[in-house]
Amino acid sequence: MRQPQLVSRLQGFGTTIFSEMTALAVEHEAVNLGQGFPDTDPPEVAIAAASEAMRAGHNQYAPGPGVPALRSAIAEHQQRVHGLRYDPDTEITVTFGATEAVAAALLALCERDDEVLVLEPAYDAYTAAIAMAGATERRVPFAPPALPADGAASATDLGAWHLDVERLSAAIGPRTRLLLLNSPHNPTGAVLDEATLDAIAALCVEHDLLAVTDEVYEHLVFDGEHVPLATRPGMRERTITISSAGKTFSCTGWKVGWACAPPELVAAVRTTKQFLSFSGGTPLQHGVAAALGAGDVPLSHVGQVQRRRRDLLVEGLRGLGAPTTRSAGTYFVTADVAPLGHPDGEAFCRAAPAAHGVAAVPMSAFVRDPAPVRSLVRFAACKDEAVLAEGVRRLGGLETTATGGARGGETGV
Ligand code: PMP
Ligand code: GLN
Repeated sequence: MRQPQLVSRLQGFGTTIFSEMTALAVEHEAVNLGQGFPDTDPPEVAIAAASEAMRAGHNQYAPGPGVPALRSAIAEHQQRVHGLRYDPDTEITVTFGATEAVAAALLALCERDDEVLVLEPAYDAYTAAIAMAGATERRVPFAPPALPADGAASATDLGAWHLDVERLSAAIGPRTRLLLLNSPHNPTGAVLDEATLDAIAALCVEHDLLAVTDEVYEHLVFDGEHVPLATRPGMRERTITISSAGKTFSCTGWKVGWACAPPELVAAVRTTKQFLSFSGGTPLQHGVAAALGAGDVPLSHVGQVQRRRRDLLVEGLRGLGAPTTRSAGTYFVTADVAPLGHPDGEAFCRAAPAAHGVAAVPMSAFVRDPAPVRSLVRFAACKDEAVLAEGVRRLGGLETTATGGARGGETGV
């Protein structure tokens, strides 16, 4: 719908699909398997440090680049976990979530009409940030998952989404400025392997592209491992690596993110970022510093919890007869709801909160041409096991025993 006061380059963005679906979930007390936020609290070490920071008077503006303790903790994390060394003073900057880091990077690096490569299905904030920067988005599609060709009627393993690097190569042109890469990937749940990342790195080097990587699900990988693009040959000097505490420490509402890159790239991001929010969440930055400083246990814990949740949801959806991907990472799985009698995923998602007491997100929201993904739906598996079980029970049309639970989402509350 056209918004009369909105600039033309942002027409059509409307309200995000996540906000829409959470609003429907709240209205109908539905189990919210739509918007990706967990119903677990952050680790006690993070809460204690954030509360302590508030009581100790850390309630005013943080330095624009972020509080030093957090930048040091990020540097230590990148070195320990990924073997990437960054100087906390010149090569790391803290942002208001990964969302601001992505926007700040695109605003800092793209001239008008530069082209930005994005994997499709695409997270909505990328398209909006590219539009705000006045750049042009070029999408490189994943091949959607499909049942095996021999397709036994009982088959419910939907396979996986597949990225063909040839298609990425074909999308590069004279105006291509940068690649915005997301792995582990929302919404497909795909995790790009080392061979694919090497091929992508070779293209970036050959065509002298910058890379901006969104790695917010870096600790939510269940099959394979997360490899930052910056670790591949020739990439550290041309990559802005972005992550955030939201998924790793179950604090999506804290909006503490960061960007790591060589000094000239970080300086560029700092310039735009200081005029977006300047800085934010000072005590929360202290909380995240403490959580990052607590070593590997909280990091592997979140992965183990989420793997169990993924398996429970996958088995539940498959048990209903919906072919479902066993995603290698992230909060999300993809299910084909056509065998449940819903050939149109979007219609299903708009009706499901009222009709079934369950919210989910249609895959069509992440693509330009919905035809190949028409019956595919993204379900968020980042909820308590009892909530996931209840969601599956409701989708199965069986008698419900509870409402969606207290953690339906903040929208409208
Ligand atoms: N990138 C991806 C791929 C996401 O799924 C999300 C949503 N959680 C974000 C970025 C946003 O991260 P943040 O909340 O830290 O801004
Ligand atoms: N990243 C979350 C998701 O994919 C949504 C975040 C948001 O609502 N902006 O569900």
